[in-house]
Amino acid sequence: MLLTQEHEEMKRTMRNFIENDLNPHVDEWEAAGEFPIHEVFKKMGDLGLLGVTKPTEFGGLGLDYSYGLAVSEELGHCNCGGVPLSIGVQTDMATPALARFGSDELRRDYLAPAIAGEMVASIAVSEPHAGSDVANIKTTAKKDGDDYVINGTKMWITNSPKADWFCLLANTSDGKPHMNKSLIIVPKDAGGITVDKRLNKLGMRSSETAQVYFDNVRVPQRNLIGTEGAGFMLQMIQFQEERLWGAASGIRGYDNLIRQTIEYCKEREAFGMPLINNQYIHFRLAELQTEVELLRSLIWRACEEYIGGKDVLQLASMAKLKAGRLSREVPDTCLQYWGGNGFMWDNPASRHLRDGRLASIGGGADEVMLGIICKTMDILPGKKKSS
Ligand SMILES: Cc1cc2nc3c(=O)[nH]c(=O)nc-3n(C[C@H](O)[C@H](O)[C@H](O)COP(=O)(O)OP(=O)(O)OC[C@H]3O[C@@H](n4cnc5c(N)ncnc54)[C@H](O)[C@@H]3O)c2cc1C
Repeated sequence: MLLTQEHEEMKRTMRNFIENDLNPHVDEWEAAGEFPIHEVFKKMGDLGLLGVTKPTEFGGLGLDYSYGLAVSEELGHCNCGGVPLSIGVQTDMATPALARFGSDELRRDYLAPAIAGEMVASIAVSEPHAGSDVANIKTTAKKDGDDYVINGTKMWITNSPKADWFCLLANTSDGKPHMNKSLIIVPKDAGGITVDKRLNKLGMRSSETAQVYFDNVRVPQRNLIGTEGAGFMLQMIQFQEERLWGAASGIRGYDNLIRQTIEYCKEREAFGMPLINNQYIHFRLAELQTEVELLRSLIWRACEEYIGGKDVLQLASMAKLKAGRLSREVPDTCLQYWGGNGFMWDNPASRHLRDGRLASIGGGADEVMLGIICKTMDILPGKKKSS
């Protein structure tokens, strides 16, 4: 896919923002376990970076998905994964369904402020006993007069400690698990919502993740996204953007880490020569870069098909799977060549390894991606092809 001058300008805007407004503070935010999300998002909103693909009527730039992807790719220049994760939740996880299927009123009240960076969004799907098995969630939203009354617990909810609203998946009837769910926008100040203290994570330290309790939370029925009962399907559609975002936002980070490792191995000497002179090391780094380029090609091919209106379930799942694999392989291999320095907490390979580990779990584990890919390939007897 050929990128235009406009793509390059969008990328430059994101890159400058990362260099000037994020990277100088990353170490401090990682140590603190949080970052000033409202302040950061307001700046991004002013630059148009939170609504690249969103409709212009609600403050977005109305550009096609390739612009969104180009900007997401730049996020890999951020010196940590946590802040980009929080940004991705806002742009590609909590808002795609609202932007496409929400009523104008709902989009005015919740999408427009999210695009402007005035409200922070969270996506609330996972539960303590249902992560991979989304169909098995227990949270309910029962009709009472003009309202839904919501009860349940959501687990591992990124941005939740500072979120202004949740895009929540709940059961709105007792019907079949794929037909009884709805996506509902729940404002944090609705009453009855408790956010637990933030979780102590292996990586993604600067993003805040917590368990959230919904106890008789009342929201108007007009906060429903799309039609009642279509929530599972809408969330599966929303997951496609989340998964492409997840794959794209990592690749510049792999490029940078491989490059930093090459530079380190040129400087560091062992047995009378620079480490990089070992064919085993430079071949391995060349091979990893080849893998990264293959992933980049897959992501951009998926993007082209997505813009063309095709179902990219298979390609997005493959990209997410491969990104998960490389998020482990690239930092682990690089860390090895940094030796003892690589084992230090603040080493770039070490941070990549901790942050990148989430890629094989969050937004659908590697095995869940393999399951989807198998279905699209008609591998299993008796299981219908999904696309
Ligand atoms: C830091 C972080 C941030 C998160 N942010 C959010 C968020 O903002 N919103 C949200 O809704 N969720 C969020 N999640 C939840 C995340 O999406 C889930 O953790 C993920 O979907 C996996 O679910 P689980 O943890 O319940 O694992 P489980 O479903 O218990 O699965 C455990 C493991 O079993 C294996 N497995 C599962 N299914 C299969 C299968 N069919 N075949 C073979 N093996 C299988 C996989 O290896 C999997 O990792 C976040 C999680 C983390 C850790």
